[in-house]
Amino acid sequence: MKYISTRGGMEPIGFRDAVITGLAPDGGLVVPERIPDLAPLLAQRGEPSYCELALEILRPYVDIGEETLRDLIDRSYARFDHPEVAPLVSLGDLHLLELFHGPTLAFKDIALQMLGNLFGHILAERQTRLNILAATSGDTGSAAIEGVRGRERVSIFVMHPKGRIAPLQERQMTTVPDSNVFNIAIEGSFDDCQEIMKSIFRDIDFKREHELGSVNSVNWARVLAQIVYYFHAFTQLRRRGIDGPLQFAVPTGNFGDILAGYYAARMGLPIARLILATNENNILARFFNTGEYRRGEVAATISPAMDIQVASNFERYLYHLLGSDPERVRALMEEFQRTGTIRLPARPSESGESLFVAGTADTAQTLETIRATDAEYGYVPDPHTAVGISVARRLRDPDLPLVCLATAHPAKFSHAIEKTLGRRISHPTLDRLADLPARKHDLPAERQAVEQYISETLSKAD
Ligand SMILES: *Cc1c(COP(=O)(O)O)cnc(C)c1O
Repeated sequence: MKYISTRGGMEPIGFRDAVITGLAPDGGLVVPERIPDLAPLLAQRGEPSYCELALEILRPYVDIGEETLRDLIDRSYARFDHPEVAPLVSLGDLHLLELFHGPTLAFKDIALQMLGNLFGHILAERQTRLNILAATSGDTGSAAIEGVRGRERVSIFVMHPKGRIAPLQERQMTTVPDSNVFNIAIEGSFDDCQEIMKSIFRDIDFKREHELGSVNSVNWARVLAQIVYYFHAFTQLRRRGIDGPLQFAVPTGNFGDILAGYYAARMGLPIARLILATNENNILARFFNTGEYRRGEVAATISPAMDIQVASNFERYLYHLLGSDPERVRALMEEFQRTGTIRLPARPSESGESLFVAGTADTAQTLETIRATDAEYGYVPDPHTAVGISVARRLRDPDLPLVCLATAHPAKFSHAIEKTLGRRISHPTLDRLADLPARKHDLPAERQAVEQYISETLSKAD
């Protein structure tokens, strides 16, 4: 399989280069040249394990030998605390696909554990190094750190806004003792962190000299790893005698998770409906309901991993929606950059695309959903998952099975849960962090300061 850019300005590249590059050099996103059909795989009625299924789904996309790939997949999911990796929990006719059984208790582990192993494999083959630079407002930083901690040939620098992330999430990052992990507390906002990261990546000489790479959610390997659990939900339902078309509800921020569902549908999984759920930051819900994609102000909510206005993975969907036409994608993205708004000629649902429906759950609806799910089933969803359940209740097709993606363990967001339910939800993985020593380095919100710290740190390590 070869990979091309959504904006047409890149010669086709192989899978390894797609993983290491992250973003295409023309500013576009890397997409596969074609989408393989896996319907024949689904016709086999075995009971594949998560890792067996992952191998079948990845094989057409990845030119790594089968034994090596199998080993890489097995190692990526060995640290999950459930034998199904992503178990399906049924509450009446609501099925929750729990994606939070990895080391940091959020769904990002599913992709970042695999990305860490892919980096390890590719860098060893090429005898090179990679120094990852990331900015985080919470979940991504710890999942990225857990993906590469202790690995040879990789270091990771993670910037977070000093004092502005949840204390628990900060401890998840700063208590990791491995010598290839560096946390930077930036004296500024998350936007400052992101701006510093982008400006360092634009500094081409610095980037090359320091072998900088990225783990952000536009990396194709992250989307690819997430396709697997849509198939896994289907096979788990079938084992329970529930077969045929189904619908998924997906709490959405950067559009990575739900995009994987879109690819799964294009690969032949019988998905009748993808329910896109946002919090008050609802640029995507507005797009799917009106055809207008317009940037707004970011509002802070109790589901912070979805507090995003410009969804970085959206461009991939646009590319497929517009009939794989890179000229139109490039023109639209340039217009969006310039004006903050683009309109598609028709609402997506009018252009033959009927897979997506979209809605918003505000804070009151989210809290009410947490209370109601606890009262009715004795199950406490985290605030992100609750956004998905709330929107799904309104937008589901009542005649089809419904799977809601459960994207984080509630203990990660214990503050919001405690305020709502009046009791604390804990998890031993998080409780253990309380007594561990923390390491971080404070820096002002300036590109030069961060570049200098990276240079000095790496030269010491040599
Ligand atoms: C990142 C995240 C999301 C949003 O996923 P996207 O792929 O960015 O749409 C939802 N819930 C949780 C808990 C997350 O960490």
